[in-house]
Amino acid sequence: MNLPSVACPTCSRRIEWSEAEVHRPFCSDRCRLIDLGAWFSEERALPAEPVDPLSAQLDLPAAGNAATGNIRHNDS
Ligand SMILES: [Zn+2]
Repeated sequence: MNLPSVACPTCSRRIEWSEAEVHRPFCSDRCRLIDLGAWFSEERALPAEPVDPLSAQLDLPAAGNAATGNIRHNDS
């Protein structure tokens, strides 16, 4: 039996691509979670930039309303 082997994406350990390796392509549940964590931290890092314009957009209407309200109040 010559099962194909793959390298664990987290620690690069070679594991056999078999039913016994339940965490494949990772060598263990820990490596799977580590890779998952890396994904989440990457996803968290990416929106860091888009979030700023978004919150700025969300802030603008509120600030605009407040300013308009103030101007209206001052006019009348
Ligand atoms: Zn591993």
